[in-house]
Amino acid sequence: MGTVFRNPAFVTLLVVFGLLAVVAAILVPWGPPATPSRAAQLAAVAKLPPEVVAAGKAFAAATRPGSYLSMGIGLVVALVLGLTPIGATIVAACGRVFGGHWLAEAVLGGLAIMIISQAVTLPLSAWRHTILVRYGMSTQGWGGWIADVARSYAVTIVVGALILAAFYGLTRLSPQQWWAWAAGGAAVLVMLGSAVYPILIEPVFNSFSSLDDGPLKTELLEMAERDGVPVGDVLVADASRRTNAVNAYVSGLGPTRRIVVYDTLLTKPDDEVVSVVAHELGHAKNGDVWIGTALGALGAAAGVCLLALLGTATGFLRRLGIDTITSPRGVALLLAVFAVVGLVATPIQNIVSRSIELRADEHALELTGDPDTFIRMQTTLAETNLSDVDPPVWLHWYFGSHPTTAQRIALAEGFPW
Ligand SMILES: [Zn+2]
Repeated sequence: MGTVFRNPAFVTLLVVFGLLAVVAAILVPWGPPATPSRAAQLAAVAKLPPEVVAAGKAFAAATRPGSYLSMGIGLVVALVLGLTPIGATIVAACGRVFGGHWLAEAVLGGLAIMIISQAVTLPLSAWRHTILVRYGMSTQGWGGWIADVARSYAVTIVVGALILAAFYGLTRLSPQQWWAWAAGGAAVLVMLGSAVYPILIEPVFNSFSSLDDGPLKTELLEMAERDGVPVGDVLVADASRRTNAVNAYVSGLGPTRRIVVYDTLLTKPDDEVVSVVAHELGHAKNGDVWIGTALGALGAAAGVCLLALLGTATGFLRRLGIDTITSPRGVALLLAVFAVVGLVATPIQNIVSRSIELRADEHALELTGDPDTFIRMQTTLAETNLSDVDPPVWLHWYFGSHPTTAQRIALAEGFPW
């Protein structure tokens, strides 16, 4: 126990956790407003059309088993590859094609492990697609679906190869201090990723165009002006090529920041679109992408420190056929660690996300001063997206990135506070 406190990676990990706690305490809005009471939520559900509530429950019941199974299988496969010698064996085999060169092991071996881990859940993704089609949510045929899968694999291969080559190159350049460089590099990469995501990754999946000039655009830009949020343009994503769901979001940092609405949203009444965009302006005004990025950057740095600590368990590594944690043969172990960390981090991320979303809802209500349209918009969203308006509490605690429809309507019912 005494030695771990003298390990610089452990000390750094404690410092990063401290920073995470401070950033989360200061920047995440912990209320008010508080999440509405259970009684207020139930009253909100009672006022919704029963067929909307029933459709959301039916869709959730159809899709949840596949999602859980997919999570479970993904985790089991990551653990089997990472915690047995199988992972190291696969990486070594990939390296042998190029005479056992470290770069071949790192990139080909690493990608092989990543692609196996993704591919095992592909049948469940296909099953999910059939459910989405049956419920009228997906507008894609198999051709479009396969093209999407191919795009996402291409992104994994390109981004994965760059990160694997950089990480294992770094461990060779600095065999002792690699973890400090990698922790800093991971944090910078998260920030950079957040900034370039809208211009490098989003266009792989969708086309974006400027919202057509007209009364709606004028109203949205005027509202942004009134809100003190400089918005040059509102972008429309061609989401209808794969879904009937409606959505809007803010992405990017600084010069790449943008407000995007799905083209499917534009089929809804203008005042409901205004209400949605008012919520997104809340994210832009409060710098929510910055908050998420800062927490993500610190989390990534913490993950690297954790790997360095794991590297001290040399006996354990040897049993897996790995000399050191910095050997490409250990890539499956690293991915297994990240899979477990992700499982623990998911509910924490969602607690933070729900607080941020609640503040954006509050902002939308204050900016528009129109709770009735907000409630109608939430009803439309639930109806179109087949949302479970009041999911089981523990499920929502773990998986819910936004307040539930019941909570959001109850919030508006209580406005002004
Ligand atoms: Zn939001």
